Amino acid sequence: MKTDNNSHPNSRLKIGEGYISGYISIFFALISLGGVFCFLFPDILTTPEYRKNYPVEILRKILLMCMLFSFLFALTSLILCKTKKPALFGTLISGISILMGGATVEVKQFNEVGFYVSLDWLLLDLLVLALIFIPIELFFPKRLSQSKFHDEWKTDLIYFAIGHVFVQLTAVSVQSPASYFFGSLNMQNLQEFVQSTSFLIQLPAALLVTDLCQYTAHRFFHKMPFLWRFHAVHHSIKAVDWMAGSRLHIVDILLTRSFSYLPLYLLGFSIEVFYMYVIIVSLQAVGAHSNTRIPFGFLKYLIVTPQYHHWHHSDDPATYDKNFAIHFPFIDLLFGTYHLPGDQWPESTGLAETKFPKGYFKQLVFPFKKDPFKDQKIKDSSRR
Ligand SMILES: [Zn+2]
Ligand SMILES: [Zn+2]
Repeated sequence: MKTDNNSHPNSRLKIGEGYISGYISIFFALISLGGVFCFLFPDILTTPEYRKNYPVEILRKILLMCMLFSFLFALTSLILCKTKKPALFGTLISGISILMGGATVEVKQFNEVGFYVSLDWLLLDLLVLALIFIPIELFFPKRLSQSKFHDEWKTDLIYFAIGHVFVQLTAVSVQSPASYFFGSLNMQNLQEFVQSTSFLIQLPAALLVTDLCQYTAHRFFHKMPFLWRFHAVHHSIKAVDWMAGSRLHIVDILLTRSFSYLPLYLLGFSIEVFYMYVIIVSLQAVGAHSNTRIPFGFLKYLIVTPQYHHWHHSDDPATYDKNFAIHFPFIDLLFGTYHLPGDQWPESTGLAETKFPKGYFKQLVFPFKKDPFKDQKIKDSSRR
């Protein structure tokens, strides 16, 4: 098995050339600008449930730090880089943020409006995940030549952004089926029992039952041709990295989430467990896709790691339909779908020999086409 993937035309950026610092400067500048907009238009750009509890002074400090980092990285890039464009672009965007009020921008008073997008959630989660996973992929990469700026990174960023700014649509819709179908069931005794147990028992139990549900839904998405049309979008990722893990068709997100969250609503897990579950599942799902060789030792047999989930994305038909779990590999072991050969990684990932449509909107309509796989050399719809 080779450890490198040379199939990507855009070569990896090298540390010390000034491009990375330039792009980091632009990244912090855009986060700052978005943050200023959230302060100015909180009614339509922030999530009502979150904004009630925001520690505004801490957010101002984070905003200030982002602007400072943007200028510092722009300066580094100016010194190191042959082209000055990234540094100047980062400086320009941060300059606009300052002109609009910067970290001391007034929070605009507002009345509640019906429509909003969760730009606050997008910015905060992007900041946290980027701070964790970009250094990991930069300093401990698995596929050395896989660039962050591979030819589909913009598509993956659109998936990431849409999944966050419209988070309320998926959050509400995943609760509805549970209350619609099971609201009348009297599960009070069971719920009281679950609530009487401690957080340390509830949390692993919640992870286990949601992973069992997720496993079931995931296998259906692979097994049933109609559902595979939607899930094939996720498997079309060729450059698997932390951002690419967001590439999921909206139908895939809605069905998988409603099914996985079902036990959380039905069994009455506490709200603290629910929040901790959401944090763990998002970190583990993002981490499992990351392009990193960080060793996990014996832990790789206990929890889902990048090596484990990259095998799920292998384009070798001999390893199709393996490693469906997202928390615990033993679930795959139990149902005969476990595949973790020593320290080996899949040679390449994606859909074998298929020309999958590129871009968010083409992939959005793909599953609804009449016979969407008709152009493929190998019928991926037969992957069942
Ligand atoms: Zn899958
Ligand atoms: Zn995946």
